[in-house]
Amino acid sequence: MLHFIDVILPIPLQKAFTYHVTEAESEFLSPGMRVAVPFGKSKVYTALVYSIHQNPPTAYDAKTIHQILDDTSVITENQLKHWEWISSYYMCSLGEVMRAAMPNAFLLESETIISRNEKVAIEESELKDEEFLIVEALQHQSSLKISEVVSILDKKRVLPIINNLVKKGVLNLQEELYEKYTPKLVRYVKLHHNHKSQEKLQALLEELSRAPKQREVVLTLFTMEASLKRPIKVSELTERSGASSGIIKTLIDKAILEEYHIQVDRVQFDGEGDSDAKRLSEAQQNAYNEVEAIFKEKSVALLHGVTSSGKTEIYVQLIQKQVDIGKQVLYLLPEIALTTQLVSRLQDYFGDKVAVFHSRYSGNERVEVWQNMLTNSEKAQVVIGARSSLLLPFTNLGLIIVDEEHESSYKQFDPAPRYHARDAAIVLANIFKAKTLLGSATPSLESYFNASQGKYGLVELNTRYNNVLMPDIELVDLADKYKRKRMKGHFSDRMIQEMTETLEEGFQIILFQNRRGFSPIIECTTCGTSPQCPNCDVSLTYHQYRDQLRCHYCGYNSVMLKSCQGCGNSTLDTKGFGTEQIEEEVKVLFPDKKVARMDLDTTRGKYGFEKIINSFEQREVDILVGTQMLTKGLDFRFVKLVGIMNADNLLNFPDFRAHERSYQLMAQVSGRAGRTDLRGKVLIQTYNPHHNILQQVSTNAYKDMYAEQMNERYNFKYPPIYRLIKITFKHKDYNRVNLAADWYAKSLKQLFKANVLGPEFPPVSRIRNLYHKNILVKIPQKQSLSKTKEAITRIDNSFNAVKDFRPVRVVINVDNY
Ligand code: ADP
Ligand code: ZN
Repeated sequence: MLHFIDVILPIPLQKAFTYHVTEAESEFLSPGMRVAVPFGKSKVYTALVYSIHQNPPTAYDAKTIHQILDDTSVITENQLKHWEWISSYYMCSLGEVMRAAMPNAFLLESETIISRNEKVAIEESELKDEEFLIVEALQHQSSLKISEVVSILDKKRVLPIINNLVKKGVLNLQEELYEKYTPKLVRYVKLHHNHKSQEKLQALLEELSRAPKQREVVLTLFTMEASLKRPIKVSELTERSGASSGIIKTLIDKAILEEYHIQVDRVQFDGEGDSDAKRLSEAQQNAYNEVEAIFKEKSVALLHGVTSSGKTEIYVQLIQKQVDIGKQVLYLLPEIALTTQLVSRLQDYFGDKVAVFHSRYSGNERVEVWQNMLTNSEKAQVVIGARSSLLLPFTNLGLIIVDEEHESSYKQFDPAPRYHARDAAIVLANIFKAKTLLGSATPSLESYFNASQGKYGLVELNTRYNNVLMPDIELVDLADKYKRKRMKGHFSDRMIQEMTETLEEGFQIILFQNRRGFSPIIECTTCGTSPQCPNCDVSLTYHQYRDQLRCHYCGYNSVMLKSCQGCGNSTLDTKGFGTEQIEEEVKVLFPDKKVARMDLDTTRGKYGFEKIINSFEQREVDILVGTQMLTKGLDFRFVKLVGIMNADNLLNFPDFRAHERSYQLMAQVSGRAGRTDLRGKVLIQTYNPHHNILQQVSTNAYKDMYAEQMNERYNFKYPPIYRLIKITFKHKDYNRVNLAADWYAKSLKQLFKANVLGPEFPPVSRIRNLYHKNILVKIPQKQSLSKTKEAITRIDNSFNAVKDFRPVRVVINVDNY
């Protein structure tokens, strides 16, 4: 009898691929083990065994496998179940899910590039002959493809040898040039050793008698060193002595003080991890009890707690309970909210039970987390991670927390699997009969809708911890300010006034300016009106080369307007302004204050993000100008004022969620103000102070926002009332993209009629020489989602049967928002 296995290859194949194995191999193998297999003309892949059977494939002759790479399965049954759900729901191959889930070190293939890890010394005598040959080759060449190793060793079966060298740390995989997790550097200061003795200090103080401020700093430091008997942070010194950072810098420059850094490494945890959890306030305790009560009946609860209401402490209690009964917890966060602030907070409670799974981690660290989870080790009982940590091999999951559940970065756009981590989390929890807690100060409409339908339980927490007041939000009418000449650059007199006061009181300021969309929106500089699409309730974007206004959802277009539809003035303009310009203007307005900027440009570099956050935390920066990134659950204690430079930029973004997102962003940014006992202040500059969203933000009226937006979604047939699937066509030939998209749309329209929108070119219709064109399929609640997908798959198959269309790349994105 012949024996076969079906394997999952890490590539977009619709079906599992079948290989021939010997009887002994078939007895040894079980699903989830890795095997090295040949594929195509000369490729080698690491594949996962999916099933073992005796049925030869009908369409091709099965090749034999190269070899078996594991003794036991490296994935779990539940994990595979979850992958299968993702692959079917998000219409991608199981291999693509596997590729996203597994560390690269698990998936060596012929194209993988290896290089020598110089940090690890090796005793050549300890290497086996073949290992030596590889290491030797890498002395002449900085890197090798695995396919080249095949020819060096003159044998096909090289993966175990390489696996072994990778395990020993002798080799690096090319893809592994990750940044290491950011060490936190804290700035400390001490008296320069020249002045350490009593006499010398005396002399110094005399010398400084003409500089009383500097003298004061030296004296304060001296007292602090004597009484505290521990290193003194620069921030502590500025606070105690009341000196500016400028004075301290002068003293350092004069070699009176000496500055040094201590690395506070928050990943390598070395504390005890037994900090007592904080006692919950009454409001928190009530919320906790409600969550518990919901979990008795439902599998998902939504915790809607205003900013700074203390949601994290509630999570901590829920996690503790799971840890006590020996279950695993997954704590999901949007990528950039995964800060050391939070990690260290959790490590204080749970010590080295906490594992962090992060894209910035190196391959080896990921493999370690993976292995710990497979063996249900205590070391990975509480996993904190971004999106992809969902795909890890959980064995005993009890709870998933999805923090900031409204965040758009939970959705993966490219490459496949294009999954939404919140939704996939709920499915994963259900596989384990575990619970999911969604948390947010500004829940997504979908989640709040699900809660209002009774699908999820709902818990509301409306007070801030310690009864700190919600910030006082004031709207500043830009049209009025411009008219009355009360503007300096982009700053109104109110903004300048509040900033001046805040700085005088010694507090910090955050200024928020979002990056503009890719394609410019037209805005009237007199009244702030933006032309809207009559069908879609989104702003039209301006296309310069055709002098046209277009809707990117339905394709509606009109010639560029000569005058504003709102006020009739011919003051329509496309000009925008970004964070950089704001930063420049602040420097002119407050020349003696320290300004920093946080956006994609300044945080790109190594440690960029952490560095800026740290220096702001340490109060080395007075004013932080930034984009969206500022909104992510950061807890700064000394921020009293938050300024939103232009709310209209957000409101007019060409997307059906623009209003919802504007509310979320502004409420979240505002939430950074006044997190301690004094009340924070928020100024929102806008041309539309009467815009409902702004009224709702300023009165913290989430429910009004929800009701109004739901009404719009209902009227315009958008989620969560309708579901969406976006289909994108890509090809370098403009005509071919058009023909392909038209053909596809026509087939779809026969079935789904008016619920098919497009084909339409997106704002940027040519990317890396490929033209893009989109079709949007709207799915009413009553229409079966799975039948709709089946129909799309059928159309897709016929599409691929047309020779001319085959080269066109088709990307299907389910729930593309
Ligand atoms: P949220 O996540 O809801 O915005 P946080 O969990 O960050 O709020 O809490 C806000 C602040 O209040 C934090 O500084 C936190 O340390 C503090 N805090 C919250 N709950 C408690 C508690 N029970 N005891 C002491 N401090 C608390
Ligand atoms: Zn439209």
